[in-house]
Amino acid sequence: MKYVDEFRDKQIVDTLLAQIRKYSQKNIRLMEVCGGHTMSIHRFGIPSLLPETVTLLSGPGCPVCVTDQSYIDRAVAYSKLQDVVVATFGDLVRVPGSTSTLAKEKARGADVRMVYSPNDVLRMAKQEPHKRFIFLGIGFETTSPAIAASVKRAKAENLTNYFVYSAHKLMPPAMTALITEGIKIDGYICPGHVSVITGSSIYNDFPEKYGVSAVISGFEPVDLLQSILMSVVQLAENMPKVEIQYTRVVQPQGNLEAQAVLKEVFTPRDDLWRGLGILPASGLALSTKYENYDAQKMIEVQVEPLKVQKGCICGEILKGLRTPIECTLFKKVCNPSNPVGACMVSNEGACAAFYKYG
Ligand code: SF4
Repeated sequence: MKYVDEFRDKQIVDTLLAQIRKYSQKNIRLMEVCGGHTMSIHRFGIPSLLPETVTLLSGPGCPVCVTDQSYIDRAVAYSKLQDVVVATFGDLVRVPGSTSTLAKEKARGADVRMVYSPNDVLRMAKQEPHKRFIFLGIGFETTSPAIAASVKRAKAENLTNYFVYSAHKLMPPAMTALITEGIKIDGYICPGHVSVITGSSIYNDFPEKYGVSAVISGFEPVDLLQSILMSVVQLAENMPKVEIQYTRVVQPQGNLEAQAVLKEVFTPRDDLWRGLGILPASGLALSTKYENYDAQKMIEVQVEPLKVQKGCICGEILKGLRTPIECTLFKKVCNPSNPVGACMVSNEGACAAFYKYG
C-alpha cells in the first residue's frame, strides 16, 4: 500500500476486524505507549470497533505529559532571569507549573520563544551573543537525536550561549516499570517513531522476561488494527514476541547514525516521570564531554517550592489505571482552553484525545 486512503480503506478495516474477532477468545489488555497512537485510536473510534475482549489502555507515551511539574517550575524560573531566552516546542508553554506557565511568563515580558527545531535556537544564539539561550529538551528517542546533534554543532562552532535543559526520556524503562508495578498489560502497541531510531530489540525483554507481546505499529487505522490483530494472535497462541507492523518505516536495527550521536552527547540517568516517579536509567543527561551545554549545571536559578495540582489524575492516566472520564475535573473545570494538567494540554495527551473525540 502506498497512499493514505488505502490505510483507511473500509474493506480492509472490516477484514481485520473479522480476524480480530475470530482470534480474540480471551480478555486481553493492550497498552499503546505513544501519544500519536492515542490520538489516532480515538480519532478513528477504534475502541468502539473492537470486541469486548480487547481493552485498549493509554500509557506514558506523550512527551509533554510525562514531563514532571518540577521541570516546568524550573523552566519558568529560567524564563525570569534577565539575559535568558527560553526556547521550546509549542505545547510546553501551556503546561501548568506550581503557580505559573511559560505562556503567562511570556505575557509578563519574559523572552520565551516557540521554535520548530533546535537549529532555530542555534541560529538565534549566534545572532544574539549577549543572551543565553536555553532549549527545553523533552521527549523520547524520537526527538533527542536532533537535540544531541544541535549540541554537537554548538561545540563544533564554539558557541558558548546555547544550553539544553534536558528531560529526555527513554521508553523501555517506563514500560518495564508498569509491568513490575503489577499493572495488568498483556501486550504493548509499541511506538512507531521511537522505534525508527532505536530499532526493535529494545523491546525483547517484554516477551522474553514478562510474557508480554510487543508490536511496533504505524498510525493509520489499518496499521493499528493490524497491530492489534498481530497482538491478539500472539496472545491466543501463547507465543508473545516482538513484531514490526510498521515495516515501511521501521528497520530492526533502527537508525545507527542517530543512535551514535545520542550515545556520544547524552548519558543515561535516573529520571523523574509524571505519575511514575523516579525510574532507574530512564532519562538522558548531557555527557561529561558536553556538560558546558547543560543548563542544569551551568545556569543557577532559584526554583519555587512544588505545589501539586489538586484533583488532576494525569499520573494515574499515564499508568493506564484510570481514564480521563474518571477525573472529576474533566470537561467541567479542565478543557483545552483551561488545562489543569499536562494530559489536557498536549495534542498527544489522553485527556485532550478524549475531549476532542469523546
Ligand atoms: S482532565 Fe485535566 S485535571 Fe483531569 S487528569 Fe486530565 S489533565 Fe488532569
